[in-house]
Amino acid sequence: MVPEHHFKKKYGQNFLNDENILNKIVTESQIPEDTLIIEIGPGAGALTEKLKDVAKMVIAYEIDNELQPLLLEKFKDIDNVKFIWGDFLERNIQNDIKEYDFKNIYVIANIPYYITTPIVEKIINSGVDISKLVIMVQKEVGERFSAKPGTKNYSSITVFLNYFYDIKTLFLVSRNCFIPKPNVDSVVLSLERKKEVIKVNDENLFFKLIRDSFQYKRKNLRNNLKGYDLNKVLEVLKQYNKDLTIRAEDLDLEVFIKICNNL
Ligand code: SAM
Repeated sequence: MVPEHHFKKKYGQNFLNDENILNKIVTESQIPEDTLIIEIGPGAGALTEKLKDVAKMVIAYEIDNELQPLLLEKFKDIDNVKFIWGDFLERNIQNDIKEYDFKNIYVIANIPYYITTPIVEKIINSGVDISKLVIMVQKEVGERFSAKPGTKNYSSITVFLNYFYDIKTLFLVSRNCFIPKPNVDSVVLSLERKKEVIKVNDENLFFKLIRDSFQYKRKNLRNNLKGYDLNKVLEVLKQYNKDLTIRAEDLDLEVFIKICNNL
């Protein structure tokens, strides 16, 4: 049960209150032995409690200082859980984990939805070899992250994330499983770091190319990529029997990588 707490909307506080869902997150995460788990936003520690039983170490970042007494009391005799108080986005993850010994790092969390994309971007840019993320996100965001080309949810963030991860939807979670009840349903996603990545020659150019390609969703590549060498873009598109009238939403990751490497 969720204890008495003054819930703060500004921190995206909707605590999970469903044993089945908590257990399912842990089992479906398939956590190997010797794993260090990073949790963002332990809240009242419902998920932390399950994670500590399967992980070598859990590092949990919590911004709300009012949760300190509750969490410290709950985990006072547990030596494989460490809380870091403050804003996860401001932390140096590499520094925070350097004293621990482990084989894998997973991020497993029911994250605060208001900073979903910044959290994922921070993890990608952290320089830490995090092999898997199992995160609960707003259902619509999950649909965007895992969308297939040619569907309405396919967008620049989809291509960006697909460059780094194999993304799977594990299961849906109803809004009724939380206290307080949010206005949206949720979904648990697994983002597994790709082992075989076709590398782009210039990542910054790649990220810019994706953003620009999707800038105006209704426009085709000829219009969205005016500032680029369109002949070089076309050279690649031709290999796929396409031309500059195609829209970004109809192109998969491989085509974007090839375009980028041809520029
Ligand atoms: N894990 C808990 C659960 O499932 O019941 C709580 C999840 S709640 C959706 C999100 C948690 O993230 C809250 O405890 C909130 O205080 C915390 N939080 C919000 N912003 C944060 C930030 N920038 N850094 C660290 N924690 C944050």
